[in-house]
Amino acid sequence: MKLVSACLLGLKCTWDGKSKRNEKIIKLLKKEVLIPVCPEQLGGLPTPRIPQEIQGCSGEDVLARICKVKNKSGQDITKQFIKGAKETLKIAKQLNIKEFIGKSKSPSCGSGLIYDGTFSGKLARGDGVTTALLKRNGIKVITEKDL
Ligand code: SF4
Repeated sequence: MKLVSACLLGLKCTWDGKSKRNEKIIKLLKKEVLIPVCPEQLGGLPTPRIPQEIQGCSGEDVLARICKVKNKSGQDITKQFIKGAKETLKIAKQLNIKEFIGKSKSPSCGSGLIYDGTFSGKLARGDGVTTALLKRNGIKVITEKDL
């Protein structure tokens, strides 16, 4: 059993109300139990929502409260991102799940590379906030690009 970013399974939970359905993930459903989670929705953010990015640092820095997540309108949504990460971790612990397949580049679910905070499409090294919390708790994280 694995957790997976809900948008990869075809749920319309992205910031613009769309999905990021990925056929490799859909195929995986035939041999594994995949539990969909959308940390941003679990954190209380609406769908659709204003695009949001970690501001020039990593998910670890956000968890350490030395960096913020803001949306394109400049609103601080750090609290919702941390709540979404904690709720996702709670699900992983309740179900004893040891692996998460996250959506690449997302400020919540990305692993290794995320958007750099300038809303220009540029990438920077780092993990999303949920990914950082899951890794901190010993959960393996990959993205759809690793499949
Ligand atoms: Fe939700 Fe993660 Fe997909 Fe963003 S990348 S829509 S937070 S599941």
